[in-house]
Amino acid sequence: MKPELLMTPGPVNVPVRTSLAEARPMRHHRGADFAEWLQTIDGKLKQIFKTKNTILYFAASGTGAMEACVVNLLKQNDRPIVIEGGKFGQRWGAICQAFRVNYRALEIEWGTAPSPALIEQALRAQPASKIIFTTLFETSTATAYDIENIAKVAQSYDAILVVDAISGLGAVPLRTDAWGIDVVVAASQKALMAPPGLAFVSISERAWKLVEQSDLPKFYWDFKAAKKELFLTPYTPAISLLQALDESLNIILEEGVDAVLCRYELYAKAVREAVAAMGLKVFSQSPGAVCTAIELPPPLKAKDVLKAMSQEFGIRIAEGQDHLKDKIIRITHIGDLSPKDILSALAALEITLSKLGAQIELGAGVKRAMELLSSQVGMFAS
Ligand SMILES: *Cc1c(COP(=O)(O)O)cnc(C)c1O
Repeated sequence: MKPELLMTPGPVNVPVRTSLAEARPMRHHRGADFAEWLQTIDGKLKQIFKTKNTILYFAASGTGAMEACVVNLLKQNDRPIVIEGGKFGQRWGAICQAFRVNYRALEIEWGTAPSPALIEQALRAQPASKIIFTTLFETSTATAYDIENIAKVAQSYDAILVVDAISGLGAVPLRTDAWGIDVVVAASQKALMAPPGLAFVSISERAWKLVEQSDLPKFYWDFKAAKKELFLTPYTPAISLLQALDESLNIILEEGVDAVLCRYELYAKAVREAVAAMGLKVFSQSPGAVCTAIELPPPLKAKDVLKAMSQEFGIRIAEGQDHLKDKIIRITHIGDLSPKDILSALAALEITLSKLGAQIELGAGVKRAMELLSSQVGMFAS
């Protein structure tokens, strides 16, 4: 099968250097050499988390680490607040439910970001709720949340903030320590540009107090066990994936963490403005650098657009989820992508939509994207 250009919100295009690193010979994980190596990976990852907090490593997709947070931070009688503005916010709720924890869902309209005032209201109304589960970038609706200000509210009520940054880490600004975020969850297959299968949790001292008190059942996911053997790992780690991750982190740090964020923001802006130039609408009211959701003009259906993009152009994009499934498409701009990829995806999209009957002036969106990308072209010189 010819590889497709992945413009999906995970997994993303993985750099060739990363794939080659993944293929290096297997090594053993018991011994000082392994621990030392994992410690160097940890140093690199901390630069992206922007934290000095402990980061725990799990062989899992992101959801595994989300479940780990729930079972390690909560007590059976806790009443956490869960912000539900899309599929991934709802996942926090679903995990709580699986462990029979009663949570308070703060439902917001899909495609909008929660206002810090709304969260403050919930904390005031529910003083027993001392923990908030939310999302940095709600990938299902392509919506960025204002975590910096949500963290301020959480601190003023002495509540622990747990942020699913699985898609956002390395793609949108996040300052774990400077903003005082207690717990940050991430995974390997999104902006970290590695294959799926590794998940990470950073935990503040404040949050460790909850870990000490937690009474929900756990074994593999036990944070205390993971911390005790931090760089030795209590169980066999996903060694090949760590090799891949190490190389992706090298690539990100060579460019610079903030330079990568700028580049993704530029890609996102190029896509948003191209969409407007095509006469289409961006779905989210708070768009961001991970992916852009585009409203399809009826009667167009997302599955037809996806099929044509894949079969005719070898470009994989995503549809919506749940009630948005057919109504939006999502173009992701993170991972190993160059301006060439953004421009060709937009050109392919224009042809596809026009063939499917939408009124699109061929080239209108691509032209706008070319203007934006070329004005910055110096930043891509290597
Ligand atoms: C991808 C993603 C997840 C988790 O997905 P996994 O498939 O378990 O890795 C969780 N939250 C957000 C915001 C995501 O984008």
